[in-house]
Amino acid sequence: MTHPRDRLLEWLRDAHAMEEQAEQVLSGQIRRIENYPALKKRLEQHLDETRRQAKDLEGCIKAMGSSTSLVKDTAGRMVGLGQALSGLFVGDEVVKGALASYTFEHMEVASYRILIAAAGEAQETEVKRICEKILAEEEKMAEWLEGHLAEVTRDHLRREAAEEATARR
Ligand code: MG
Ligand code: FE
Repeated sequence: MTHPRDRLLEWLRDAHAMEEQAEQVLSGQIRRIENYPALKKRLEQHLDETRRQAKDLEGCIKAMGSSTSLVKDTAGRMVGLGQALSGLFVGDEVVKGALASYTFEHMEVASYRILIAAAGEAQETEVKRICEKILAEEEKMAEWLEGHLAEVTRDHLRREAAEEATARR
Protein backbone atom coordinates (compact mmCIF):
# COMPACT_ATOMS: atom_id res chain seq x y z
CA MET A 1 0.00 0.00 0.00
CA THR A 2 0.99 3.58 -0.55
CA HIS A 3 0.18 6.10 2.16
CA PRO A 4 -1.35 9.40 0.94
CA ARG A 5 1.57 11.20 2.59
CA ASP A 6 4.11 9.41 0.37
CA ARG A 7 2.14 10.19 -2.74
CA LEU A 8 1.81 13.81 -1.64
CA LEU A 9 5.58 14.03 -1.26
CA GLU A 10 6.10 12.59 -4.72
CA TRP A 11 3.67 15.12 -6.20
CA LEU A 12 5.35 17.98 -4.33
CA ARG A 13 8.65 16.95 -5.89
CA ASP A 14 7.00 16.84 -9.31
CA ALA A 15 5.62 20.34 -8.70
CA HIS A 16 9.06 21.57 -7.64
CA ALA A 17 10.54 20.22 -10.89
CA MET A 18 7.67 21.86 -12.79
CA GLU A 19 8.45 25.24 -11.20
CA GLU A 20 12.14 24.90 -11.99
CA GLN A 21 11.21 24.27 -15.59
CA ALA A 22 8.81 27.23 -15.50
CA GLU A 23 11.66 29.42 -14.28
CA GLN A 24 13.79 28.41 -17.25
CA VAL A 25 11.01 28.89 -19.79
CA LEU A 26 9.96 32.27 -18.39
CA SER A 27 13.56 33.51 -18.26
CA GLY A 28 14.06 32.51 -21.88
CA GLN A 29 10.89 34.22 -23.03
CA ILE A 30 11.66 37.41 -21.11
CA ARG A 31 15.16 37.55 -22.57
CA ARG A 32 13.85 37.26 -26.12
CA ILE A 33 10.77 39.50 -26.08
CA GLU A 34 11.60 42.98 -27.38
CA ASN A 35 8.42 44.59 -28.67
CA TYR A 36 5.59 43.36 -26.46
CA PRO A 37 6.20 45.30 -23.24
CA ALA A 38 2.95 44.42 -21.42
CA LEU A 39 3.54 40.69 -21.94
CA LYS A 40 7.18 41.01 -20.93
CA LYS A 41 6.28 42.87 -17.73
CA ARG A 42 3.69 40.31 -16.68
CA LEU A 43 6.10 37.44 -17.39
CA GLU A 44 8.75 39.17 -15.27
CA GLN A 45 6.30 39.47 -12.40
CA HIS A 46 5.39 35.82 -12.70
CA LEU A 47 9.06 34.81 -12.84
CA ASP A 48 9.50 36.36 -9.39
CA GLU A 49 6.46 34.46 -8.16
CA THR A 50 7.71 31.25 -9.74
CA ARG A 51 11.10 31.46 -7.98
CA ARG A 52 9.33 31.97 -4.66
CA GLN A 53 6.95 29.09 -5.39
CA ALA A 54 9.91 26.76 -5.97
CA LYS A 55 11.39 27.83 -2.61
CA ASP A 56 8.04 27.38 -0.84
CA LEU A 57 7.68 23.87 -2.28
CA GLU A 58 11.20 23.02 -1.20
CA GLY A 59 10.20 24.20 2.30
CA CYS A 60 7.16 21.90 2.25
CA ILE A 61 9.25 18.93 1.14
CA LYS A 62 11.88 19.56 3.83
CA ALA A 63 9.23 20.11 6.51
CA MET A 64 7.82 16.71 5.61
CA GLY A 65 11.26 15.20 6.18
CA SER A 66 12.39 14.71 2.60
CA SER A 67 14.49 16.57 0.05
CA THR A 68 14.26 17.84 -3.51
CA SER A 69 17.42 15.95 -4.46
CA LEU A 70 15.21 12.97 -5.21
CA VAL A 71 13.48 14.95 -7.94
CA LYS A 72 13.11 12.78 -10.96
CA ASP A 73 13.51 13.83 -14.51
CA THR A 74 10.11 15.06 -15.56
CA ALA A 75 11.16 15.72 -19.15
CA GLY A 76 9.00 12.91 -20.42
CA ARG A 77 5.96 14.40 -18.77
CA MET A 78 6.43 17.67 -20.60
CA VAL A 79 6.06 16.46 -24.15
CA GLY A 80 3.15 18.76 -24.93
CA LEU A 81 5.00 21.77 -23.65
CA GLY A 82 8.07 20.86 -25.67
CA GLN A 83 5.97 20.77 -28.79
CA ALA A 84 4.53 24.18 -28.05
CA LEU A 85 7.98 25.57 -27.31
CA SER A 86 9.36 24.26 -30.58
CA GLY A 87 7.66 27.35 -32.00
CA LEU A 88 10.16 29.60 -30.23
CA PHE A 89 12.38 30.11 -33.23
CA VAL A 90 9.82 30.73 -35.92
CA GLY A 91 8.34 33.97 -37.25
CA ASP A 92 5.31 33.89 -34.94
CA GLU A 93 7.46 33.20 -31.89
CA VAL A 94 5.57 35.59 -29.58
CA VAL A 95 2.21 33.98 -30.38
CA LYS A 96 3.58 30.46 -29.91
CA GLY A 97 5.12 31.60 -26.63
CA ALA A 98 1.79 32.98 -25.40
CA LEU A 99 0.12 29.71 -26.40
CA ALA A 100 2.73 27.69 -24.50
CA SER A 101 2.42 29.94 -21.43
CA TYR A 102 -1.36 29.63 -21.37
CA THR A 103 -1.06 25.84 -21.60
CA PHE A 104 1.62 25.68 -18.92
CA GLU A 105 -0.34 27.82 -16.45
CA HIS A 106 -3.32 25.52 -16.78
CA MET A 107 -1.16 22.48 -16.14
CA GLU A 108 0.03 24.26 -13.00
CA VAL A 109 -3.55 25.07 -11.95
CA ALA A 110 -4.49 21.39 -12.25
CA SER A 111 -1.34 20.32 -10.39
CA TYR A 112 -2.07 22.57 -7.41
CA ARG A 113 -5.72 21.54 -7.26
CA ILE A 114 -4.51 17.94 -7.02
CA LEU A 115 -1.92 18.88 -4.38
CA ILE A 116 -4.52 20.73 -2.30
CA ALA A 117 -6.80 17.68 -2.29
CA ALA A 118 -3.89 15.38 -1.47
CA ALA A 119 -2.61 17.64 1.33
CA GLY A 120 -6.12 17.66 2.81
CA GLU A 121 -6.30 13.89 2.64
CA ALA A 122 -2.86 13.56 4.26
CA GLN A 123 -3.82 16.18 6.88
CA GLU A 124 -0.85 18.37 5.96
CA THR A 125 -2.49 21.71 6.77
CA GLU A 126 0.51 23.95 6.09
CA VAL A 127 1.27 22.28 2.75
CA LYS A 128 -2.38 22.77 1.80
CA ARG A 129 -2.25 26.46 2.72
CA ILE A 130 0.91 27.04 0.67
CA CYS A 131 -0.51 25.22 -2.35
CA GLU A 132 -3.68 27.32 -2.12
CA LYS A 133 -1.57 30.47 -2.18
CA ILE A 134 0.37 29.24 -5.23
CA LEU A 135 -2.85 28.15 -6.96
CA ALA A 136 -4.20 31.70 -6.69
CA GLU A 137 -1.06 33.02 -8.41
CA GLU A 138 -1.30 30.49 -11.23
CA GLU A 139 -4.98 31.30 -11.75
CA LYS A 140 -4.21 35.02 -11.92
CA MET A 141 -1.48 34.39 -14.50
CA ALA A 142 -3.78 32.16 -16.56
CA GLU A 143 -6.49 34.83 -16.42
CA TRP A 144 -4.09 37.54 -17.49
CA LEU A 145 -2.99 35.48 -20.48
CA GLU A 146 -6.60 34.71 -21.34
CA GLY A 147 -7.31 38.44 -21.38
CA HIS A 148 -4.30 39.23 -23.57
CA LEU A 149 -4.04 36.41 -26.12
CA ALA A 150 -6.23 38.23 -28.66
CA GLU A 151 -4.32 41.48 -28.26
CA VAL A 152 -0.91 39.84 -28.68
CA THR A 153 -2.21 38.00 -31.74
CA ARG A 154 -3.62 41.14 -33.40
CA ASP A 155 -0.53 43.17 -32.59
CA HIS A 156 1.65 40.45 -34.09
CA LEU A 157 -0.46 40.07 -37.25
CA ARG A 158 -0.57 43.82 -37.91
CA ARG A 159 3.17 44.24 -37.48
CA GLU A 160 3.80 41.21 -39.69
CA ALA A 161 1.42 42.47 -42.40
CA ALA A 162 3.29 45.78 -42.35
CA GLU A 163 6.49 43.75 -42.72
CA GLU A 164 7.84 45.12 -39.51
CA ALA A 165 10.89 43.32 -38.17
CA THR A 166 9.41 43.87 -34.71
CA ALA A 167 6.56 41.37 -35.28
CA ARG A 168 8.39 38.21 -34.35
CA ARG A 169 9.21 38.94 -30.73
MG1 MG B 1 4.17 28.20 -10.89
FE1 FE C 1 2.80 29.71 -13.23
